[in-house]
Amino acid sequence: MYIYGHKNPDTDAIVSAVVASRLYKALGYECQALRLGELNKETQFVQEYFGFAIPELKEALPDGSQVVLVDHNEISQSLDNLNELEIFAIIDHHKFNLKTSSPLNIRAEIIGSTASILYKMFVENSIEIDKQTAGMLIAAIISDTLYFRSPTSTEQDREIVEKLNKIAGIADLETFSLQMFDAKSDLSEFTPEQIITMDYKPFDFNGKKFCIGVMETTSPDFALNMQQQLIEAQVKIKSENNLDGLLFFVVDILHEQSTAITCSEFETQTVLEAFEASQVSEQILNVGSIVSRKKQIVPILEAYFS
Ligand code: MG
Ligand code: MG
Ligand code: MG
Repeated sequence: MYIYGHKNPDTDAIVSAVVASRLYKALGYECQALRLGELNKETQFVQEYFGFAIPELKEALPDGSQVVLVDHNEISQSLDNLNELEIFAIIDHHKFNLKTSSPLNIRAEIIGSTASILYKMFVENSIEIDKQTAGMLIAAIISDTLYFRSPTSTEQDREIVEKLNKIAGIADLETFSLQMFDAKSDLSEFTPEQIITMDYKPFDFNGKKFCIGVMETTSPDFALNMQQQLIEAQVKIKSENNLDGLLFFVVDILHEQSTAITCSEFETQTVLEAFEASQVSEQILNVGSIVSRKKQIVPILEAYFS
């Protein structure tokens, strides 16, 4: 079995693929964690901190291969020939948009990260969690919940981190979380296009083809200082991919608020109306205390376009 997180992988996608492969191996399956894109700076920091092997990049599998999907379930975020693959299991915490041709195992919960679900699966199967695995799971939970700032985080995520840290022994989780977020915020070596598409997902809003990029950062000024380049990059990506709309949100992790940098009049109007945003300048919109694409941005846009 090949175990994959989503395209444009985040820390939860990479960690969950690696940890799920450890779980399935302990259960007697032959499996391998793989990935569908490059590690972001935060995930690189986490990988170096805990020293786990990076899953191999493998963007295509032969038809009929058996896969496990973690941290996603939509074909647009997965292998292009997903409909020709055999999905053995999905472990996820996103909304579902899925049709399969054969039965499969699904484990989905309303919880802050896929890593939290994997913790439960280890416990349920009485499989011991080693120190490295515990640390990796903590990092993925911190990443997805923005260290419990995001409305996606639950009491369970907090309890799980507490239990895992009895094994991992990270001295100061707050400091560790800031190290992760600062690593993610260092975007100096990336092009504007890479910054837009680093944490980037496609959506269909009532027949309109959208992509939404988010930049979770401890230094939002970095993005605002390069707003013109970020606008130009969005215009280019939008036209190359024939999108109806492209939105880019700069999420200020520490102040728990977001700014949209919009690429055309359509996006500006959409954000102003859907989010009741306030206009800082023509293409810079303050959307207030919004930090989660999954729980805030996407539902708001779905309601707006329906
Ligand atoms: Mg993810
Ligand atoms: Mg996740
Ligand atoms: Mg995220």
